[in-house]
Amino acid sequence: MMRRKLVAGNWKMHGLSGDLGEIASISIAAETIDADIALCLPATLIERASRACRGFPIGGQDVHQADKGAHTGCVSAAMLLDAGAKLTIVGHSERREAQNESDADVKAKAEAALAAGLDVILCVGESDTIREAGTAVATVSAQLDASLPGSIGEANRFSVAYEPIWAIGTGKVPSTTDIGEMHAALRQRLAAAYGEAGHQIRILYGGSVKASNAAEIFAVADVDGALVGGASLKAVDFLPIATAAEVA
Ligand code: PEP
Repeated sequence: MMRRKLVAGNWKMHGLSGDLGEIASISIAAETIDADIALCLPATLIERASRACRGFPIGGQDVHQADKGAHTGCVSAAMLLDAGAKLTIVGHSERREAQNESDADVKAKAEAALAAGLDVILCVGESDTIREAGTAVATVSAQLDASLPGSIGEANRFSVAYEPIWAIGTGKVPSTTDIGEMHAALRQRLAAAYGEAGHQIRILYGGSVKASNAAEIFAVADVDGALVGGASLKAVDFLPIATAAEVA
């Protein structure tokens, strides 16, 4: 099945007003690239970037599961939408680890975001200890099963990102065989959960994707794009990755 590729940048805790020009450069170039492209920005930049880059999807990096309330420091789906966001990441390993987010939290966040009208990128991935123990596929499959929203609506609004924790920001990348094995297993889980729609959901790979390895990764079966951290901060690094998605 042909799935249009999605290349999303995750700026993490990077970006100030002075970086709005870089975001605009990416959004302008994105118009000519035949792939879906998005940037998930710090909450403080979402509104200004959305105004400056009309039509280009700007996203959040997390969302709270509640509509509103006494949740100091958190952002609701309605707030993200109000600021102009079209999507959000949920379950990034940096939040699962540093904020102790459970699979149940991630599921609730995904459900709240989808119900409010945000597209969702839901992250899963194993630690190096799990990879070395040989249980990565079973562990990540179980993590996905427990994190999946009950329903997803349109399949192209919901994506899964497989991000091995040991590959994030390290320059290490799994072999294409290992990426293919994991993506095939996740595809099976999505089909078991959602039937035909599970075959339309995009499964992104994330972890040290760069211009030099993107084409090889995008050529792997069931790799439908990438979630890109460090290499998404500059147009000169990010755009070649997006362009590789176009030709893969
Ligand atoms: C990420 O944190 O989502 C990520 C993929 O980071 P990097 O590309 O820098 O490894």
